[in-house]
Amino acid sequence: MMGAMTDLIPLNRVHLPADAQANIERARRAGRLASGGHFGQACEAWLERQVGCRRALLTGACTHALEMCALLLELQPGDEVIMPSFTFVSTANAFALHGARPVFVDIRPDTLNIDPARIAEAITARTRAIVVVHYAGVACDMDPILALAERHGIPLIEDNAHGLYGEWRGQPLGSFGALATLSFHETKNIACGEGGALLINDPAFVERAHVLRDKGTNRQKFLAGRVAAYTWVDVGSSYGLPELLAAVLLAALEEGPSIQRSRQRVWQTYRRELAGWCAAHRVDMQHIPEGARPPAHLFCLLLPSAERRAAFIRTLREDAIEAAFHYLPLEGSPMAARLGAQRPTCRVSADVSARLVRLPLYAHMAPDDLTRVVDAVRRIDW
Ligand SMILES: *Cc1c(COP(=O)(O)O)cnc(C)c1O
Repeated sequence: MMGAMTDLIPLNRVHLPADAQANIERARRAGRLASGGHFGQACEAWLERQVGCRRALLTGACTHALEMCALLLELQPGDEVIMPSFTFVSTANAFALHGARPVFVDIRPDTLNIDPARIAEAITARTRAIVVVHYAGVACDMDPILALAERHGIPLIEDNAHGLYGEWRGQPLGSFGALATLSFHETKNIACGEGGALLINDPAFVERAHVLRDKGTNRQKFLAGRVAAYTWVDVGSSYGLPELLAAVLLAALEEGPSIQRSRQRVWQTYRRELAGWCAAHRVDMQHIPEGARPPAHLFCLLLPSAERRAAFIRTLREDAIEAAFHYLPLEGSPMAARLGAQRPTCRVSADVSARLVRLPLYAHMAPDDLTRVVDAVRRIDW
Protein backbone atom coordinates (compact mmCIF):
# COMPACT_ATOMS: atom_id res chain seq x y z
CA MET A 1 0.00 0.00 0.00
CA MET A 2 1.17 3.53 -0.79
CA GLY A 3 1.95 5.85 2.10
CA ALA A 4 -0.08 8.85 3.15
CA MET A 5 2.39 11.12 1.34
CA THR A 6 1.22 9.88 -2.06
CA ASP A 7 -0.86 12.47 -3.90
CA LEU A 8 -4.37 11.45 -4.80
CA ILE A 9 -4.90 10.75 -8.49
CA PRO A 10 -8.37 12.25 -9.01
CA LEU A 11 -11.02 10.95 -11.38
CA ASN A 12 -10.92 14.24 -13.25
CA ARG A 13 -8.63 17.25 -13.16
CA VAL A 14 -9.81 20.52 -14.66
CA HIS A 15 -7.54 21.82 -17.38
CA LEU A 16 -7.45 25.60 -17.78
CA PRO A 17 -6.24 26.30 -21.34
CA ALA A 18 -2.99 28.24 -21.68
CA ASP A 19 -4.60 31.10 -23.63
CA ALA A 20 -7.57 31.53 -21.27
CA GLN A 21 -6.04 34.44 -19.36
CA ALA A 22 -5.03 36.35 -22.49
CA ASN A 23 -8.50 35.83 -24.03
CA ILE A 24 -10.22 37.06 -20.85
CA GLU A 25 -8.04 40.16 -20.93
CA ARG A 26 -8.94 40.78 -24.60
CA ALA A 27 -12.65 40.42 -23.81
CA ARG A 28 -12.29 42.83 -20.88
CA ARG A 29 -10.60 45.41 -23.08
CA ALA A 30 -13.22 44.99 -25.83
CA GLY A 31 -15.75 46.03 -23.18
CA ARG A 32 -18.50 43.49 -24.00
CA LEU A 33 -19.16 40.91 -21.35
CA ALA A 34 -22.67 39.68 -22.17
CA SER A 35 -23.32 36.82 -24.60
CA GLY A 36 -23.04 37.27 -28.35
CA GLY A 37 -19.63 38.97 -28.40
CA HIS A 38 -16.51 38.25 -30.45
CA PHE A 39 -15.49 35.13 -28.50
CA GLY A 40 -19.00 33.72 -28.41
CA GLN A 41 -19.34 34.08 -32.17
CA ALA A 42 -15.89 32.59 -32.75
CA CYS A 43 -16.80 29.53 -30.62
CA GLU A 44 -20.01 29.04 -32.58
CA ALA A 45 -18.20 29.24 -35.92
CA TRP A 46 -15.61 26.75 -34.61
CA LEU A 47 -18.33 24.28 -33.56
CA GLU A 48 -20.17 24.63 -36.88
CA ARG A 49 -16.94 23.75 -38.71
CA GLN A 50 -16.03 20.90 -36.35
CA VAL A 51 -19.46 19.20 -36.23
CA GLY A 52 -20.75 20.30 -39.61
CA CYS A 53 -24.10 21.42 -38.19
CA ARG A 54 -26.23 24.16 -39.71
CA ARG A 55 -25.99 26.40 -36.62
CA ALA A 56 -24.34 26.16 -33.21
CA LEU A 57 -25.67 28.37 -30.40
CA LEU A 58 -23.70 28.64 -27.17
CA THR A 59 -25.75 28.24 -23.99
CA GLY A 60 -25.06 28.48 -20.27
CA ALA A 61 -25.12 24.68 -20.00
CA CYS A 62 -26.02 21.52 -21.90
CA THR A 63 -29.05 21.47 -19.59
CA HIS A 64 -30.18 24.79 -21.11
CA ALA A 65 -29.67 23.49 -24.64
CA LEU A 66 -31.84 20.46 -23.78
CA GLU A 67 -34.54 22.79 -22.40
CA MET A 68 -34.38 24.70 -25.68
CA CYS A 69 -35.01 21.41 -27.49
CA ALA A 70 -38.15 20.89 -25.40
CA LEU A 71 -39.32 24.44 -26.21
CA LEU A 72 -38.49 24.09 -29.92
CA LEU A 73 -40.61 20.94 -30.13
CA GLU A 74 -43.48 22.76 -28.34
CA LEU A 75 -44.07 19.82 -26.04
CA GLN A 76 -47.42 19.64 -24.25
CA PRO A 77 -48.37 17.86 -21.03
CA GLY A 78 -48.91 14.19 -21.87
CA ASP A 79 -46.38 14.19 -24.69
CA GLU A 80 -43.84 11.39 -24.43
CA VAL A 81 -40.11 11.60 -24.94
CA ILE A 82 -38.16 8.36 -25.28
CA MET A 83 -34.69 8.28 -23.68
CA PRO A 84 -32.32 5.92 -21.89
CA SER A 85 -32.75 5.35 -18.15
CA PHE A 86 -28.96 5.18 -17.80
CA THR A 87 -28.13 8.86 -18.29
CA PHE A 88 -27.61 12.13 -16.45
CA VAL A 89 -30.60 13.84 -14.80
CA SER A 90 -30.69 16.72 -17.31
CA THR A 91 -31.58 14.45 -20.25
CA ALA A 92 -34.95 13.83 -18.59
CA ASN A 93 -35.40 16.94 -16.46
CA ALA A 94 -35.24 19.37 -19.38
CA PHE A 95 -38.29 17.69 -20.94
CA ALA A 96 -40.16 17.08 -17.67
CA LEU A 97 -39.75 20.79 -16.88
CA HIS A 98 -41.79 21.56 -19.97
CA GLY A 99 -44.55 19.07 -19.19
CA ALA A 100 -43.43 16.06 -21.21
CA ARG A 101 -43.31 12.56 -19.76
CA PRO A 102 -39.93 10.82 -20.01
CA VAL A 103 -40.31 7.25 -21.26
CA PHE A 104 -37.26 5.35 -20.09
CA VAL A 105 -35.94 2.50 -22.17
CA ASP A 106 -33.08 0.12 -21.56
CA ILE A 107 -29.51 0.14 -22.84
CA ARG A 108 -27.50 -2.60 -24.50
CA PRO A 109 -25.19 -4.51 -22.14
CA ASP A 110 -22.20 -4.23 -24.53
CA THR A 111 -22.12 -0.61 -25.77
CA LEU A 112 -24.07 0.78 -22.76
CA ASN A 113 -26.10 2.81 -25.26
CA ILE A 114 -29.85 2.94 -25.81
CA ASP A 115 -31.16 -0.27 -27.40
CA PRO A 116 -32.91 0.44 -30.74
CA ALA A 117 -35.21 -2.57 -30.25
CA ARG A 118 -36.44 -1.08 -26.95
CA ILE A 119 -37.05 2.29 -28.66
CA ALA A 120 -39.24 0.60 -31.26
CA GLU A 121 -41.35 -1.03 -28.52
CA ALA A 122 -41.78 2.28 -26.66
CA ILE A 123 -43.13 4.35 -29.56
CA THR A 124 -46.79 5.36 -29.17
CA ALA A 125 -49.11 7.91 -30.79
CA ARG A 126 -47.93 10.39 -28.13
CA THR A 127 -44.20 10.06 -28.78
CA ARG A 128 -42.85 13.51 -29.68
CA ALA A 129 -39.09 12.94 -29.56
CA ILE A 130 -36.37 10.33 -29.23
CA VAL A 131 -33.35 11.42 -27.22
CA VAL A 132 -30.17 9.37 -27.52
CA VAL A 133 -27.03 9.69 -25.39
CA HIS A 134 -23.69 8.57 -26.83
CA TYR A 135 -22.33 7.17 -23.56
CA ALA A 136 -18.63 8.00 -23.16
CA GLY A 137 -18.89 9.41 -26.68
CA VAL A 138 -19.29 5.88 -28.11
CA ALA A 139 -21.79 6.28 -30.94
CA CYS A 140 -25.26 4.79 -30.52
CA ASP A 141 -26.37 2.29 -33.17
CA MET A 142 -27.46 5.12 -35.46
CA ASP A 143 -28.79 3.25 -38.51
CA PRO A 144 -31.86 1.62 -36.89
CA ILE A 145 -32.44 4.69 -34.71
CA LEU A 146 -32.44 7.07 -37.70
CA ALA A 147 -34.71 4.65 -39.59
CA LEU A 148 -37.21 4.54 -36.70
CA ALA A 149 -37.25 8.34 -36.34
CA GLU A 150 -37.76 8.70 -40.07
CA ARG A 151 -40.45 6.03 -40.38
CA HIS A 152 -42.52 7.51 -37.52
CA GLY A 153 -41.75 11.16 -38.29
CA ILE A 154 -40.37 11.67 -34.76
CA PRO A 155 -37.57 14.23 -34.26
CA LEU A 156 -34.27 12.78 -33.05
CA ILE A 157 -32.23 14.65 -30.43
CA GLU A 158 -28.65 13.74 -29.54
CA ASP A 159 -27.62 14.53 -25.98
CA ASN A 160 -24.00 14.66 -27.09
CA ALA A 161 -22.61 15.94 -23.78
CA HIS A 162 -19.86 13.28 -23.93
CA GLY A 163 -19.29 13.19 -27.64
CA LEU A 164 -17.56 16.26 -29.06
CA TYR A 165 -14.89 14.80 -31.42
CA GLY A 166 -16.72 11.46 -31.45
CA GLU A 167 -17.69 9.92 -34.80
CA TRP A 168 -19.95 7.32 -36.34
CA ARG A 169 -18.75 6.01 -39.72
CA GLY A 170 -16.66 9.13 -40.22
CA GLN A 171 -19.50 11.54 -39.43
CA PRO A 172 -19.27 13.71 -36.29
CA LEU A 173 -21.65 12.96 -33.43
CA GLY A 174 -24.07 15.85 -33.04
CA SER A 175 -24.72 16.00 -36.78
CA PHE A 176 -27.33 13.20 -36.93
CA GLY A 177 -30.30 14.51 -34.94
CA ALA A 178 -32.60 17.38 -35.92
CA LEU A 179 -31.07 18.88 -32.77
CA ALA A 180 -28.09 17.99 -30.60
CA THR A 181 -26.49 19.37 -27.46
CA LEU A 182 -22.97 19.71 -26.06
CA SER A 183 -21.63 20.35 -22.56
CA PHE A 184 -18.58 22.35 -21.53
CA HIS A 185 -18.97 21.54 -17.83
CA GLU A 186 -15.66 21.15 -16.04
CA THR A 187 -15.99 17.35 -16.19
CA LYS A 188 -16.10 17.27 -20.01
CA ASN A 189 -13.20 17.06 -22.49
CA ILE A 190 -13.51 20.69 -23.58
CA ALA A 191 -14.56 22.87 -20.67
CA CYS A 192 -15.07 26.44 -19.51
CA GLY A 193 -16.51 25.65 -16.06
CA GLU A 194 -20.17 25.59 -17.03
CA GLY A 195 -21.35 25.97 -20.58
CA GLY A 196 -23.06 24.20 -23.43
CA ALA A 197 -24.28 24.47 -26.98
CA LEU A 198 -27.35 23.72 -29.02
CA LEU A 199 -26.46 22.24 -32.40
CA ILE A 200 -29.15 22.69 -35.05
CA ASN A 201 -29.19 20.43 -38.11
CA ASP A 202 -32.80 21.04 -39.17
CA PRO A 203 -32.83 24.62 -40.52
CA ALA A 204 -36.52 25.00 -39.58
CA PHE A 205 -35.43 25.48 -35.94
CA VAL A 206 -32.78 28.18 -36.43
CA GLU A 207 -34.81 31.37 -36.21
CA ARG A 208 -36.93 30.36 -33.22
CA ALA A 209 -33.86 29.03 -31.36
CA HIS A 210 -32.39 32.54 -31.43
CA VAL A 211 -35.65 33.96 -30.03
CA LEU A 212 -35.81 31.34 -27.25
CA ARG A 213 -32.21 32.09 -26.22
CA ASP A 214 -32.86 35.85 -26.29
CA LYS A 215 -35.65 36.10 -23.68
CA GLY A 216 -38.38 35.57 -26.26
CA THR A 217 -37.35 38.60 -28.32
CA ASN A 218 -36.44 39.06 -31.98
CA ARG A 219 -33.21 40.81 -30.96
CA GLN A 220 -31.25 38.71 -33.45
CA LYS A 221 -33.34 40.15 -36.32
CA PHE A 222 -32.72 43.64 -34.92
CA LEU A 223 -28.94 43.06 -34.78
CA ALA A 224 -29.09 41.84 -38.39
CA GLY A 225 -30.86 45.08 -39.39
CA ARG A 226 -34.06 43.28 -40.36
CA VAL A 227 -36.33 45.13 -37.88
CA ALA A 228 -36.09 48.70 -36.52
CA ALA A 229 -36.52 47.70 -32.86
CA TYR A 230 -36.76 44.43 -31.04
CA THR A 231 -39.74 43.28 -29.06
CA TRP A 232 -41.35 40.34 -27.25
CA VAL A 233 -42.42 37.79 -29.89
CA ASP A 234 -42.46 34.39 -28.12
CA VAL A 235 -41.60 32.69 -24.86
CA GLY A 236 -37.93 32.22 -24.05
CA SER A 237 -35.31 32.66 -21.40
CA SER A 238 -31.80 33.97 -20.95
CA TYR A 239 -29.86 30.99 -22.24
CA GLY A 240 -26.71 32.65 -23.63
CA LEU A 241 -23.12 32.06 -22.47
CA PRO A 242 -21.41 35.17 -21.03
CA GLU A 243 -18.44 36.46 -23.02
CA LEU A 244 -15.78 35.79 -20.35
CA LEU A 245 -16.71 32.11 -20.38
CA ALA A 246 -16.75 32.10 -24.18
CA ALA A 247 -13.22 33.57 -24.04
CA VAL A 248 -12.10 30.60 -21.93
CA LEU A 249 -14.04 28.20 -24.15
CA LEU A 250 -12.42 29.43 -27.36
CA ALA A 251 -8.99 28.85 -25.83
CA ALA A 252 -10.08 25.30 -24.90
CA LEU A 253 -11.52 24.60 -28.36
CA GLU A 254 -8.32 25.81 -30.02
CA GLU A 255 -6.32 23.56 -27.70
CA GLY A 256 -8.68 20.70 -28.61
CA PRO A 257 -6.27 18.64 -30.72
CA SER A 258 -3.63 18.58 -27.97
CA ILE A 259 -6.22 17.88 -25.25
CA GLN A 260 -7.58 15.02 -27.37
CA ARG A 261 -4.14 13.53 -28.08
CA SER A 262 -3.37 13.55 -24.41
CA ARG A 263 -6.70 11.98 -23.37
CA GLN A 264 -6.47 9.38 -26.17
CA ARG A 265 -3.06 8.30 -24.86
CA VAL A 266 -4.57 7.59 -21.42
CA TRP A 267 -7.65 5.86 -22.85
CA GLN A 268 -5.63 3.69 -25.27
CA THR A 269 -3.19 2.76 -22.52
CA TYR A 270 -6.03 1.54 -20.28
CA ARG A 271 -7.57 -0.46 -23.15
CA ARG A 272 -4.26 -2.10 -23.99
CA GLU A 273 -2.66 -2.57 -20.59
CA LEU A 274 -5.78 -3.77 -18.76
CA ALA A 275 -7.07 -6.18 -21.42
CA GLY A 276 -5.28 -9.22 -19.95
CA TRP A 277 -6.30 -8.43 -16.39
CA CYS A 278 -9.92 -7.96 -17.49
CA ALA A 279 -10.00 -11.31 -19.30
CA ALA A 280 -8.54 -13.10 -16.28
CA HIS A 281 -10.97 -11.51 -13.82
CA ARG A 282 -14.30 -11.63 -15.71
CA VAL A 283 -14.27 -7.86 -16.15
CA ASP A 284 -15.70 -6.31 -19.33
CA MET A 285 -14.73 -3.15 -21.12
CA GLN A 286 -17.31 -1.07 -22.99
CA HIS A 287 -17.70 -2.55 -26.47
CA ILE A 288 -16.65 -0.13 -29.21
CA PRO A 289 -18.63 -1.08 -32.32
CA GLU A 290 -17.05 -0.99 -35.74
CA GLY A 291 -17.59 2.51 -37.12
CA ALA A 292 -17.58 4.22 -33.71
CA ARG A 293 -14.67 6.51 -32.86
CA PRO A 294 -15.03 7.58 -29.25
CA PRO A 295 -13.35 10.79 -28.04
CA ALA A 296 -11.73 9.37 -24.87
CA HIS A 297 -14.28 11.06 -22.65
CA LEU A 298 -14.44 8.44 -19.93
CA PHE A 299 -12.98 5.00 -19.34
CA CYS A 300 -15.14 2.45 -17.57
CA LEU A 301 -14.99 -1.21 -16.54
CA LEU A 302 -17.86 -3.58 -15.73
CA LEU A 303 -16.94 -5.68 -12.72
CA PRO A 304 -18.53 -9.09 -12.10
CA SER A 305 -20.69 -7.88 -9.16
CA ALA A 306 -21.59 -4.87 -7.02
CA GLU A 307 -19.50 -6.38 -4.19
CA ARG A 308 -16.42 -6.67 -6.42
CA ARG A 309 -16.92 -3.08 -7.49
CA ALA A 310 -17.12 -1.81 -3.91
CA ALA A 311 -13.91 -3.67 -3.07
CA PHE A 312 -12.24 -2.39 -6.27
CA ILE A 313 -13.06 1.24 -5.44
CA ARG A 314 -11.92 0.74 -1.82
CA THR A 315 -8.63 -0.87 -2.85
CA LEU A 316 -7.78 1.88 -5.33
CA ARG A 317 -8.69 4.47 -2.71
CA GLU A 318 -6.11 2.91 -0.38
CA ASP A 319 -3.61 3.41 -3.22
CA ALA A 320 -4.67 7.09 -3.40
CA ILE A 321 -6.51 6.61 -6.71
CA GLU A 322 -10.04 7.85 -7.18
CA ALA A 323 -12.37 5.51 -9.06
CA ALA A 324 -16.10 6.14 -9.20
CA PHE A 325 -19.40 4.61 -10.16
CA HIS A 326 -21.73 6.57 -12.45
CA TYR A 327 -25.46 7.13 -13.11
CA LEU A 328 -28.23 5.71 -10.97
CA PRO A 329 -30.96 4.71 -13.45
CA LEU A 330 -33.45 7.55 -13.74
CA GLU A 331 -36.52 5.32 -13.82
CA GLY A 332 -35.88 4.33 -10.19
CA SER A 333 -35.48 7.95 -9.01
CA PRO A 334 -37.89 9.70 -6.62
CA MET A 335 -38.76 12.19 -9.36
CA ALA A 336 -39.63 9.44 -11.84
CA ALA A 337 -41.94 7.97 -9.18
CA ARG A 338 -43.62 11.37 -8.82
CA LEU A 339 -44.10 11.42 -12.59
CA GLY A 340 -45.89 8.09 -12.33
CA ALA A 341 -43.13 5.65 -13.29
CA GLN A 342 -44.11 2.07 -12.61
CA ARG A 343 -41.82 -0.60 -11.21
CA PRO A 344 -38.42 -0.32 -12.97
CA THR A 345 -38.22 -2.41 -16.12
CA CYS A 346 -34.75 -1.50 -17.45
CA ARG A 347 -32.88 -4.49 -16.10
CA VAL A 348 -29.65 -3.89 -18.03
CA SER A 349 -29.47 -0.28 -16.78
CA ALA A 350 -29.86 -1.43 -13.16
CA ASP A 351 -27.25 -4.16 -13.61
CA VAL A 352 -24.73 -1.90 -15.37
CA SER A 353 -25.26 0.89 -12.85
CA ALA A 354 -24.40 -1.51 -10.02
CA ARG A 355 -21.21 -2.87 -11.63
CA LEU A 356 -19.69 0.01 -13.61
CA VAL A 357 -16.60 1.87 -12.42
CA ARG A 358 -14.70 4.77 -14.00
CA LEU A 359 -10.92 5.23 -13.84
CA PRO A 360 -9.06 8.58 -13.71
CA LEU A 361 -8.93 10.20 -17.15
CA TYR A 362 -7.94 13.78 -17.89
CA ALA A 363 -5.70 15.77 -20.22
CA HIS A 364 -2.00 15.93 -19.34
CA MET A 365 -2.17 13.07 -16.84
CA ALA A 366 1.42 12.46 -15.74
CA PRO A 367 2.84 9.26 -17.28
CA ASP A 368 3.87 8.07 -13.79
CA ASP A 369 0.31 8.53 -12.55
CA LEU A 370 -1.06 6.57 -15.49
CA THR A 371 1.38 3.75 -14.72
CA ARG A 372 0.38 3.90 -11.06
CA VAL A 373 -3.31 3.37 -11.95
CA VAL A 374 -2.56 0.51 -14.35
CA ASP A 375 -0.30 -1.23 -11.82
CA ALA A 376 -2.78 -0.74 -8.98
CA VAL A 377 -5.60 -2.32 -11.01
CA ARG A 378 -3.40 -5.24 -12.08
CA ARG A 379 -2.50 -5.95 -8.44
CA ILE A 380 -6.19 -6.52 -7.63
CA ASP A 381 -6.94 -10.23 -7.61
CA TRP A 382 -9.79 -12.60 -6.79
C1 LIG B 1 -22.84 16.60 -18.33
C2 LIG B 1 -24.10 16.08 -18.94
C3 LIG B 1 -25.24 16.89 -19.09
C4 LIG B 1 -25.38 18.25 -18.49
O1 LIG B 1 -24.43 19.13 -18.88
P1 LIG B 1 -24.38 20.60 -18.24
O2 LIG B 1 -23.55 21.35 -19.19
O3 LIG B 1 -23.74 20.43 -16.88
O4 LIG B 1 -25.77 21.10 -18.13
C5 LIG B 1 -26.32 16.37 -19.78
N1 LIG B 1 -26.31 15.13 -20.27
C6 LIG B 1 -25.24 14.32 -20.12
C7 LIG B 1 -25.27 12.95 -20.72
C8 LIG B 1 -24.12 14.76 -19.42
O5 LIG B 1 -23.07 13.94 -19.25
